[in-house]
Formats: sequence, C-alpha cells, structure tokens
Amino acid sequence: MNFELTQEQQMIYEYGKNLSKTWTRDYWREKAEKREFTLEMWQQVGEDGFLGMMVPEEHGGAGLGMTEQLLLMEGMANEGIPLLMMVVGPTMTLSALASHGSDEQKKEFLPDGCSGKRIYCFAITEPNAGTNTIKATTVAKKKPDGRYSLSGTKTFITGVDVSDYVLVVARTTPYDQVKNKTDGFTLFLVDLKKKGIEKHPIDIAICLPEMQWTLFFDEVDLGPEDVLGEEGRGFEILFDSLNPERIIAAGMTAGIGRYALERAVEYASERTVFDAPIGSYQGVQHPLAMAKTEIELASLMGRKAAWQFDQGLPAGEASNMAKYAAAEAGIHAVDAAVQAHGGNGFTKEYGIFDLYPIVRLTRTAPINREIILSYIGEHVMGLPRSY
Ligand SMILES: Cc1cc2nc3c(=O)[nH]c(=O)nc-3n(C[C@H](O)[C@H](O)[C@H](O)COP(=O)(O)OP(=O)(O)OC[C@H]3O[C@@H](n4cnc5c(N)ncnc54)[C@H](O)[C@@H]3O)c2cc1C
Repeated sequence: MNFELTQEQQMIYEYGKNLSKTWTRDYWREKAEKREFTLEMWQQVGEDGFLGMMVPEEHGGAGLGMTEQLLLMEGMANEGIPLLMMVVGPTMTLSALASHGSDEQKKEFLPDGCSGKRIYCFAITEPNAGTNTIKATTVAKKKPDGRYSLSGTKTFITGVDVSDYVLVVARTTPYDQVKNKTDGFTLFLVDLKKKGIEKHPIDIAICLPEMQWTLFFDEVDLGPEDVLGEEGRGFEILFDSLNPERIIAAGMTAGIGRYALERAVEYASERTVFDAPIGSYQGVQHPLAMAKTEIELASLMGRKAAWQFDQGLPAGEASNMAKYAAAEAGIHAVDAAVQAHGGNGFTKEYGIFDLYPIVRLTRTAPINREIILSYIGEHVMGLPRSY
C-alpha cells in the first residue's frame, strides 16, 4: 500500500495554491457576490492544461485520471476558490465525451473544452422527477427523417449562461414502454444557441460565481450527430459518471473545510480573550481538531475511491462514503470555524460564514445524503430496499 502522491500528482494538488496567487480568494468572492463566472480564471486553468485532466492527450487533455481530477479540485478548494463548473464540465461532461463520444465528436468538442474555449454544462434534474431520475419526462421524439425533437424542462442547471453546450439526459422511449426502468434514456449534446431553448435564472441563496437556471426545451431540433453514445443506453454512460460526481463533490467539500479550518487556526492563535489565545481553550480547540480529523478521513476515502475508479475496480462503496463523510465533515468544519471567529465569523470581511451554504449544499447536491445512505445500507450492508 502506498499513500504517497507522485511528483506529478503533488504538482497538480499544489496547482490551486499557485493559481490563487493570481486569482485570489478575494477575486473569487467579488465574482461570487456579483454572481459572475470567474471566466478569466477558468481560461487560465485551460491554458495551463488542467481542464482536460481525464481527456486523452491526443484530444488536448492531460491523459490522466480521476485521482488527478480530484487532486486538482481539492487543491483549488483548499485555497477557497472552488468551482462547481469543474464538477459539471470537466468531470461530468468532458470525461463522458472522452469515453463515449464518436471520433467526430471527440475531434469537435474535446480540444476546445480542454483549452477553455468552449464550456459545457450538464442537465439531468427536472422539477417533477427530482432525485427519481428514471421518472424524467424531458423527451426527444424521433421523427421519420431520423432527427429528434427535444421538449421538456430541466432545473437547477449550473452555468448555462457561460456554457456553449449542455449535455441533456432525455427519454427516447417512454417509461411505460421500457423493459428495465433505466432503459430508453439518451444523452444529447445540445448547442445552447439552438432555436426553442429558453433559460430562466434561479435566485439561489449561495455566494457562488456560477448561476443556476431552469432550461426550457420546446421542440428543439437535434440530429443523430448530437447523440452521445447509443440511443436508449444513456444510463450506462450516466452510471460511469456517478462515482466521479460523488468523488469530486467530496474533494471540493474537503478542500473548503480545510480552508475554513486554516482561517480558524490563524484567528484562534491570535485572538486573545481572558488573557490567552482562544485556540488554547479546549472548547475552541477540540471542535477544530475533530473537524480536521473528519476532513482528512473524508479526503482519504475520496482518494481511495478515485484510485479504485482509475483501476477499473468497483468504486461505489468508497465514492458514496467519501461524499457522505465530506459533506458532514465540511459542515462541521465551517461551523467550528464560524464559532472560533466569534462575531467576526458572521462578517463579510472574514469570509467564513459564506462558506457555510456551499458545504451545506453538498449534503443535498449533486446527490442527497439520504440516497447515499440508502446506497450504503442496501448495496454495501445488504439491508432490504426501501424504494
Ligand atoms: C446550487 C445547485 C446546483 C445544481 N447544479 C445542477 C446541475 O448543474 N445539473 C443538474 O442536473 N442538477 C443540478 N442541481 C440539482 C441537484 O442535483 C438536485 O437539487 C438534487 O439532486 C436534489 O434533487 P431535488 O432538488 O429534486 O430534490 P428531491 O428529489 O425533491 O428531494 C428532496 C429531499 O427529499 C429527500 N429524498 C428524496 N428521495 C428520497 C428517498 N428515496 N429516500 C429518502 N429521502 C429522499 C432528500 O432529503 C432530498 O434532499 C443543482 C442544485 C443546486 C441547489
């Protein structure tokens, strides 16, 4: 067993630290407060060759794996500059394109995605189906000429305003006509400039540089060239992305937790009340130490999950556990950091409180805690299914 990072992995992990010298936490927060995407920073990451971590080199990527994708995200979040676009773009969409795209799609979409010239987002959530994706009703009806007409609504979609394309999960066979409930879904890479697409912003109460949108598709004309993978087999591609999504969310949360704890340690070492630095009081020190332990445990589980994924081993158990553990640890870490800051924990100046909604988000999205626990209960522990 070897827990050491290679030199290259260490460099990727530390990239966030270097990036944050130019694109600072203050820059990230200013953008987040205006709900404006950190486009310049994104393009810098692309120029530096870090957007296509999991894309083969021949298509403009780094030809590495989930481990490196995780280290990159964790390293950025460690500095307080995490990006949700890293989840929906490079992790969910670019890697799906790299693994399942046709030769033409790879040539057309991967190099620009890796360089940052084109941005991709990902749409699965629907207002009615919610977590129960198999009940999704966005439909791509096949026409006699072999083309499709896409209609339906997706919601909470991150980064639609800054993206060029969206990877949409749609039904090509209705629910009541499929043998297995996961059959009949097809993935479409949809040009957001197409006729019949409307977007409405959702007023999300989280300080993030990415905005969320409801996307309406009204008979959007698509061709077979827009299909990713095989018609009706979209869920097989999605299954490939579920563990990476959990792993990357875990890495982001662990990093934000570390950032909050570091600020708390600085503050609690300096701030003196009752004649001693407050960090020396165990009522302050122990919650920080407990949260630090939880964060490092979650991070370790994330790395195990990423390693398993890269080895082609079953990674569901570790990915789900990492996501669960990181969300809980992140919440505890930010809460302990707010408490250690006293009143300053609630000021904009110290920038701690606005981390809370982000770590709290990861208990609900990209997949909620209850579904994660059901997976662990049923698939890992063998308990009976509830739904
Ligand atoms: C900031 C943000 C960004 C997002 N970005 C994207 C994106 O880019 N693309 C995208 O497709 N989606 C995105 N989402 C959507 C997100 O993935 C969903 O909100 C999330 O998966 C929960 O789905 P829902 O909101 O429909 O909740 P529901 O399915 O309505 O669930 C509500 C609650 O019920 C509980 N619950 C549900 N099912 C069960 C069950 N079987 N057992 C026990 N409890 C259950 C859970 O506690 C859950 O939180 C984003 C959401 C947010 C808030």
